[in-house]
Amino acid sequence: MKTDRSHDLFTRAQSLMPGGVNSPVRAFKSVGGEPFFVQRAEGPYLFDADGNRYIDYVGSWGPMIVGHNHPKVLEAVIETARNGLSFGTPNPLEVTMAETITRLIPSCEMVRMVNSGTEATLSAIRLARGTTGRSRIVKFEGCYHGHGDSFLVKAGSGALTFGVPTSPGVPKALADLTLTLPYNDFDAATQLFDECGGDIACLIVEPVVGNANCLPPREGYLQHLRALCTKHGALLIFDEVMTGFRVALGGAQARYGVTPDLSTFGKVIGGGMPVGAYGGRRELMQQVAPSGPIYQAGTLSGNPVAMAAGLAMLELIQAPGFHDALEAKTNALCDGLEAAAREAGVAFTTQRVGGMFGLFFSAEKVDTYAQAMACDSAAFNHFFHAMLERGVYLAPSAFEAGFMSGAHDDAAIAATIEAARAAFRAI
Ligand code: PLP
Repeated sequence: MKTDRSHDLFTRAQSLMPGGVNSPVRAFKSVGGEPFFVQRAEGPYLFDADGNRYIDYVGSWGPMIVGHNHPKVLEAVIETARNGLSFGTPNPLEVTMAETITRLIPSCEMVRMVNSGTEATLSAIRLARGTTGRSRIVKFEGCYHGHGDSFLVKAGSGALTFGVPTSPGVPKALADLTLTLPYNDFDAATQLFDECGGDIACLIVEPVVGNANCLPPREGYLQHLRALCTKHGALLIFDEVMTGFRVALGGAQARYGVTPDLSTFGKVIGGGMPVGAYGGRRELMQQVAPSGPIYQAGTLSGNPVAMAAGLAMLELIQAPGFHDALEAKTNALCDGLEAAAREAGVAFTTQRVGGMFGLFFSAEKVDTYAQAMACDSAAFNHFFHAMLERGVYLAPSAFEAGFMSGAHDDAAIAATIEAARAAFRAI
């Protein structure tokens, strides 16, 4: 495989941007080697600067649920851009977007558009703190909610000890307010709320953890979190930046039948443009400026071109049977990968939820962060490169979920499984 142009670009990029990238995971630090630079994308494929083609299971980290460069999304963007790129006034597409989100996600009676998932989550916890008058928040080990200061925190020596910043620059005083729990552990959550439930503004969770590979909730776990929050007067926030519109049309809250107080979105709702949103019950959302005192704003929020892309994408995924077909594709891929691993005698298993999946180099099913961390990440890294050489792009980290799209046809999935047969033998 020729990689001269990507290598050249990466060399130039490294002297100009930290690590040569604008977002860390793109740099391949976790899997080793150098990233490839993409020039063009179409359907399930990426094409790099050297002309190599890859079957893509990253999908721009989630947004590209109908495949790359879908003609309907492209057309909506071009048509809307003809009228101007940004007005700084309200525009009609924001209203259509709010109507669409509130219709598809009934727990969101009102919504505020922002520009990224990070903005959505940090705005949601400000709203939770502002409406409850409490300062502490609870998150889970292995969940990622963007790069807001309150989230770049790991557990101290026990759940009830003060949080520890995971990045220089996060004030210790702020990290102290973030409590961290192990995901899928019922008792740890009960104990934490019993001890300090009255101080907790909100619990934020990825209802299916997509940032520690792919960990579905144990039966009744999200219901348990709902009950604890209700009992102790804390808000339950579902961070559906990844799961929203992907694990079901109505997101994880529809799939598991649990109603959060607030939800955050990103990725799919932007159709590939920089968009996020948060929403929830009317009386909570009415506390946001300018109708309420809790401040949050954005020069480009509700941008017409971004709204047009997102609306076109949301229109496409409302086609009858879209999510059933997506889930069938995910299952076909994961079943095929598991069979290929068995043939090669490699300890390997998968998790799948709708259009997202996790690959684990482990003999056992994995549904906790500790189990995910115990998987053979060196084997994953070998597998990643063996697949890349064969034209298949998986997430460049053993701890990131994979994403299926509606554009992955039988041929692309069969070619992926064929590549995996050889890759499993090679590692
Ligand atoms: N929340 C979750 C669950 C995410 O997966 C991500 C990003 O991957 C974010 C929040 C942050 O979104 P963004 O990268 O758009 O800021």
